[in-house]
Amino acid sequence: MDATVPEAVKIVEGRCRICGARTEVLRLTEFNLKVCPPCFLRFFERRIRRALEKHAMVGEGERVAVAVSGGKDSTALLYALKRLGVVMGFEPVALHFHLAMGGYSDRNLEVVKEQCSRAGIPLKVLLIGDLGLRVQRVKGWTPCAVCGAIKRSLFNREARKMGAQVVATAHTLEDILLFAFKNLLSRNFRLPPPVLPPGDGLARKVKPLYYMPERLNLVYCRLRELPIFEEKCPFWSPHGHALKEVFEHMEKVVPSSKLQLLLSLREVLSLEGMTLSGPKSPCLRCGEPSSQPLCAVCQLGDWFLRGGRRTGDPS
Ligand SMILES: [Zn+2]
Ligand SMILES: [Zn+2]
Repeated sequence: MDATVPEAVKIVEGRCRICGARTEVLRLTEFNLKVCPPCFLRFFERRIRRALEKHAMVGEGERVAVAVSGGKDSTALLYALKRLGVVMGFEPVALHFHLAMGGYSDRNLEVVKEQCSRAGIPLKVLLIGDLGLRVQRVKGWTPCAVCGAIKRSLFNREARKMGAQVVATAHTLEDILLFAFKNLLSRNFRLPPPVLPPGDGLARKVKPLYYMPERLNLVYCRLRELPIFEEKCPFWSPHGHALKEVFEHMEKVVPSSKLQLLLSLREVLSLEGMTLSGPKSPCLRCGEPSSQPLCAVCQLGDWFLRGGRRTGDPS
C-alpha cells in the first residue's frame, strides 16, 4: 500500500469554492483552492484542456499516441485525454512497452490492459524482448538511461505506425522543474518547452501535464477509481528523485510556489534548443532519426547480440 494515498485524497468538511456547496472538499494547496470531488474532476480536465489549447498541442482530427506506463501520471493523462478527445475532436491511442523484466513487466501489462479497456482506448503493446533488447547496465549507461533511450526511439516509430501525428508524454510540473533545475545547476539556462514541433522524421511531441502537480494525477485516478500499477521498478533508486524533495519542501513552506516558479522560469529562461541531441539524420541501418550514425536502438541491439559482455562495468 502506498503511504501517500490517504494523504493525497484527504477529504475535509468545507465549502467548495467552485460550486459553493457546503460538503466534503479536497484541499488543493497548489492552487489555494478547496473543491468538492465532482468539481475537482472538471477542474483537472479543464486545466489539461487549457494547456492543450494554449500551446496548440493537438489539432482536430489528429491521432495522439500516449505512452502508458501504468503509473498515476500516464493513467490520469490517458483517461483525461479520452474525455477531452470527445469534445475537442482528437483520438488518443495507447502504447505500452513491455520491458522484459519477468513477472514485474507481466503484472505491469495486466494493469495497463485493464486501464485501456476501462477508458475504451486501443492499446498497442511492444515487447522489447522480441526486438532483442533488454533493460540493464550497458557500457557507460545506467539501466534507466538504457530504458529511456529505448522508449524514446521506439515511441516515435511506433506512433508513426499507429498513424499518430502527435506523441504525448506524462511529464508533470515537477518533472519540468527538475529538468530546469538540473540545467541551472550546470549554467544551462534552458527550460523544456510544452511542445516540440515535428521535423527530421519526428512526430510533434507534447506534454499536456506541463502545469500539473503530480499529486493531483493521483487524486484524479483515485476519484475516477482507475487501477494504477504501484510496484516500483526493480532499478528504481531514490537518488534520481532526491532533488524533487526540494520542490516539495518549498511547496510546504510557500503553497503554490511550484507553479509560480515554473511561470517565472518561463519568463526568463530560453525554450529553444531543447531537443537535447542536436540535428537528426536517418540511422544508417534502420532509417530512424538519430543524432549519431547508428540510432540508440540499433547500437543497443548490436551490444546485446554480441552477448553484452560486461567487462569494465563499474556495476
Ligand atoms: Zn463543487
Ligand atoms: Zn537504427
